[in-house]
Amino acid sequence: MSATRVLVLNSGSSSVKYQLLDMADSSRLAVGLVERIGEETSRLKHTPLAGDGAERERTGPIADHEAALKAVAAELAADGLGLDSPELAAIGHRVVHGGKHFTEPTVVDDAVLAEIERLIPVAPLHNPANLTGIRTAQALRPDLPQVAVFDTAFHTTMPEAAARYAIDVATADEHRVRRYGFHGTSHAYVSRTTAELLGKAPEDVNVIVLHLGNGASASAVRGGRCVDTSMGLTPLEGLVMGTRSGDLDPAVIFHLARVGGLSIDEIDTLLNKKSGLIGLCGDNDMREIRRRIDEGDEQARLAFDIYIHRLKKYIGAYYAVLGRVDAIAFTAGVGENAAPVRAAAVAGLEELGLAVDGELNSVRSDEPRLISPEYARVKVAVVPTDEELEIAAQTYALVGRHG
Ligand code: AMP
Repeated sequence: MSATRVLVLNSGSSSVKYQLLDMADSSRLAVGLVERIGEETSRLKHTPLAGDGAERERTGPIADHEAALKAVAAELAADGLGLDSPELAAIGHRVVHGGKHFTEPTVVDDAVLAEIERLIPVAPLHNPANLTGIRTAQALRPDLPQVAVFDTAFHTTMPEAAARYAIDVATADEHRVRRYGFHGTSHAYVSRTTAELLGKAPEDVNVIVLHLGNGASASAVRGGRCVDTSMGLTPLEGLVMGTRSGDLDPAVIFHLARVGGLSIDEIDTLLNKKSGLIGLCGDNDMREIRRRIDEGDEQARLAFDIYIHRLKKYIGAYYAVLGRVDAIAFTAGVGENAAPVRAAAVAGLEELGLAVDGELNSVRSDEPRLISPEYARVKVAVVPTDEELEIAAQTYALVGRHG
C-alpha cells in the first residue's frame, strides 16, 4: 500500500487548524480546528468528510499544543484515519516566516528548526506557534517526514529593487529588514490556477493576484514568479485590511509616540488590531460594511472608499511593474464573495483593458471563473484560494515520491 495521505497543520498561538488529504485524488478526508488552547473553554471541531460527514464538537480544557494534537489524533483514529496509519506520507506545516533562506518547501531537520527559530524576531507572533506545532507532531510520529511550507517562499523571487527598503543598507542587513511578503502559498496557487483558467502555461502569463481576506495582499506575478508583493517585513504593509492600516507614512509612528504619548506596543496594537476597516468604521466584515452602506451609513461608505482607493493604486502600480497584464485574480473571503469590491476596484480602468461584466460578477460559485466581458484585453478572474491543498500538494511532491 503506498502512502498518499498528508496531514496539513496550521498552528497558531492558541489554535490548530488541520486537514487530512489524500493526494491520490486531492480529496479531503477530514477537516477541523482546535481553538482556545490553554483556556478552560477550549473547543475541538472535527468534520470527517469520508463517512457520514457529521461534525463533532468537544469542549473542555485542552492545556497545550501537545494535548491539542493528541485530541486531533484521537478524532482521526475514531474515523479509521489514525496518525499511525501506513497511508500517512507526511505532515505539512504552514510556517509564516521563512526569511530569505527558505525559498521552497523543506523537510524539517534540526538545522531547519534552528533557522525557523532564528527568524522569531521578524515573526514574533507566528513562528513560535509554528515551531510548537512541528515539534509536537515530531514527538507523535518521529519516523514521519515533517515538511515546512513557508508563507514567504513564493516571494523570494522578488528582485532586490522590489525587496529592499530605501534605508541604510548596513542597518537593514544587520537587522534583516527587507520586504518578505506573506500569503505566498495562496498567491502561488491562485496565479497558477488563473493561468490554467486562461488555458495557458504559468510561464506565459502575467497576473496580478489580489488576496483580500481579513488580512490582504496583492502580488505581481510574471511568468509564474513573484516580482512584487504588497506586504513587507511584516504583514502590516500594503492594502487596507480588516484590522491593519496597510501603508502609511512611517513618521505617523514618531508623531503618535512624541506628540500622542503612545508607547511602541500601543502603536503596534493600534496599527495591527485597531486600524484598517475596523478602525475606520467599527466593522471589519465586508458583509456588514455593505449592509451599512445600503442603509446610507456615511462612515461605512468612507471606509469602503478608502479600501478601494488603495486597492486601485496597487492594481495600477503592479500594472506598471509587469508592463503587460493578462489577468487580475480576486481571492480570499472578500475577493471571492464581495462582488461590489471587485466591480469598484476595476471601475474606470477600461483604458487599461480592464472591465467586469455585471452579470458574471454577481454569480456565486466555488469554482474558478472569469468575470470580465469577452472583449476585455485583461481578464478578470475569481479564484477561490486553497492554501491547505497547496501545502499538501507541495508536501507530497517533496516526499511522496519516496513513499
Ligand atoms: P478570510 O480571511 O479569507 O477568511 O476572509 C474573511 C473576510 O471575508 C471576512 O472578514 C469578511 O470581510 C469577508 N467575507 C466573507 N464572506 C463574505 C461575503 N459573503 N461577502 C463579503 N465579504 C465576505
